[in-house]
Amino acid sequence: MQIAVVGTGFVGVVTAAVLAKLGHQVAGLDIDQSKVDKLNAGVVPFYEPGLEDLLKVGEASGKLTFTTSYSDAVANAQICIIAVGTPSSPEGKADTSFVLSAIDSLAPELQDDAIVVVKSTVPPGILPSLRERIAQKTTVQFHLASMPEFLREGTAVADTLKPDRVVIGAEAEWSAGVLSELHKPLGAPIIITSPESAQLGKYAANSYLALRIGFINQIADLCEKTGADVQEVISIIGADARIGPHYWYPGLGYGGSCFPKDVRELAYASKQLGLGETLFVKLNELNVERPQEIFAHWTTDVDGWAGKAVAVLGLSFKPNTNDLREAPSLWLIPQLLAAGATVKAYDPQAIPEVKQILGTPDGVEYEGDLGQAVAGADIVIALVEWKEIITFNFGDTAVAEKKQRHFLDARNQFVPEQVVGWGFSYHGIGR
Ligand code: NAD
Repeated sequence: MQIAVVGTGFVGVVTAAVLAKLGHQVAGLDIDQSKVDKLNAGVVPFYEPGLEDLLKVGEASGKLTFTTSYSDAVANAQICIIAVGTPSSPEGKADTSFVLSAIDSLAPELQDDAIVVVKSTVPPGILPSLRERIAQKTTVQFHLASMPEFLREGTAVADTLKPDRVVIGAEAEWSAGVLSELHKPLGAPIIITSPESAQLGKYAANSYLALRIGFINQIADLCEKTGADVQEVISIIGADARIGPHYWYPGLGYGGSCFPKDVRELAYASKQLGLGETLFVKLNELNVERPQEIFAHWTTDVDGWAGKAVAVLGLSFKPNTNDLREAPSLWLIPQLLAAGATVKAYDPQAIPEVKQILGTPDGVEYEGDLGQAVAGADIVIALVEWKEIITFNFGDTAVAEKKQRHFLDARNQFVPEQVVGWGFSYHGIGR
């Protein structure tokens, strides 16, 4: 099939490369010329393990191309997939302006019977307005569907090649059939629903995962007050088959490109729909407050920051990505500087992106070498659990210096006794 993928961000490039791997002729489209140039040169403009190889294979086979031209990408496409961003607007509502702009550009180019798939995360009930908008710009017959994306940055290629499920929110049996056939080779369960259920299902999935993080943070706070250890509590609740041992991350709250904005959209939409102050409002508030609460806690743990050298390890919002959207490093580093500390910041991938946002203020050094970042530090903050960080032997540096050092384990990734053995005072979350 001929397929256009509109928007070549994290979702668009992975989607385009995987569809090309399945043998389809795919044109990825973006309005950002520099991104398209990089992609056409076989370079992925962000860090995603395994993606560059897949991109190069697709391009070498002639099945995968990138363009900024809607007429080149869309005119021959039987399926046109929209994967542009839907960030939060200031009031918390999902900003669908990129989707609308993509719709305006693609509509005049559509061929007869084209299927327009909305992969971007969009509020339930948006399709009728998109239909109207397209119909004003074309006379051909077209079909609309919503196919929310569930990939995770860091494992996006594997998630897309072997998804837990493929969700098709289609208005008609015919288009649901075509999209099912397209995704059948992935071998995943295919769930066909109304477009509204598909769209709400995406928000519900992300908000539930965010809720687990918010929930376990509240339990961690109770652990601090009562002398319990949140990791032991997790072993107890996780043994219940109804709950499960997976996806418990006590820490500084959730960040990234999706959870914060998707919870905010549900909070906003619930209020608009007359449901009042729902769980999602509180969940968002708790998450916004969380980093400051932990920072205050840490300030006591380390007896103040003034004049201290701090190693901040892990700057992206999670491991295996250089995405910084709502990453804890972006508020923590300025906070440490304001409190009088100096910072050595380490990340395996995200340093160039952090520099772009924070610059290099006085008191900050970026270190590409973990040992260098930690050497001489009074305080180590293990912020994000990159493998390089959680498997590092901090013992050598700590023992050599023979001074009082603190180790702040922001995601409970370390064994407290081992950290103490390395010569640090250990401070985890809720333990
Ligand atoms: P992104 O910000 O990384 O990329 C969006 C791309 O769209 C950018 O390259 C931008 O230049 C391009 N774009 C904007 N307007 C355009 C237009 N009119 N025409 C063509 N291109 C245009 O976004 P992302 O992280 O890939 O997310 C895309 C969507 O997928 C969002 O709705 C997001 O919520 C959802 N999603 C993201 C993830 C994730 O992990 N990133 C996972 C699941 C779902």
